[in-house]
Amino acid sequence: MKIAICPGHHPAAKGAVNKKHGLNEHDEATKVIDHAYEILTRQGHTVEIITGTLGEKVRTINAGDFDLVIDLHFNADADHLDPEDFDDSRGHGSMVMYCPKARSYGDPEPQSTRKAQAAVFSFAMHSKLGNRDLGGRPGWYWGSNPPKKKDYFLRKTNCVAFIPEPGYIDNNGFAEAWLVSGRHREIAEAICNGIAVLEKRWV
Ligand SMILES: [Zn+2]
Repeated sequence: MKIAICPGHHPAAKGAVNKKHGLNEHDEATKVIDHAYEILTRQGHTVEIITGTLGEKVRTINAGDFDLVIDLHFNADADHLDPEDFDDSRGHGSMVMYCPKARSYGDPEPQSTRKAQAAVFSFAMHSKLGNRDLGGRPGWYWGSNPPKKKDYFLRKTNCVAFIPEPGYIDNNGFAEAWLVSGRHREIAEAICNGIAVLEKRWV
């Protein structure tokens, strides 16, 4: 497959943080993506790492004729009630977001297929990480409150796109077990396991 993998957010706006451990989404995702690039390339896929602002990423992807695109994020603040609260969150588990708008890019597959793919992707990821499986979720962007917006990345990319969220960066238990301890390669393996299941069953 021709796969684009992107670290969520970008150097000028790094996303959610873990204050206690000095972590942010973009830097942690970048470490995982570097391992994923190596793993997927070795498996024979054609892989490109795409970075930049959301608009830049989408433009590059849409010019690239990809079969699959992954934008890797870490979750934060389980209830999403207080975006300013970056202290230790209750959030626990991994999920995969899929495009919430059916046929947003002329996708010939029904949205139910993308939902099912997100669910098996999430299950494969959680099986490797040993955490709670939060499943496939429609991709919403919580940047403004209210209203919720449909995720720009998922809606604007012209190929099959998913956003894996392997865990909550502001959950200190997760951060310490996986990020502070440097287990980024295992997170990358979990994501690549999810991609392998997709390839086997659908893409
Ligand atoms: Zn994010």
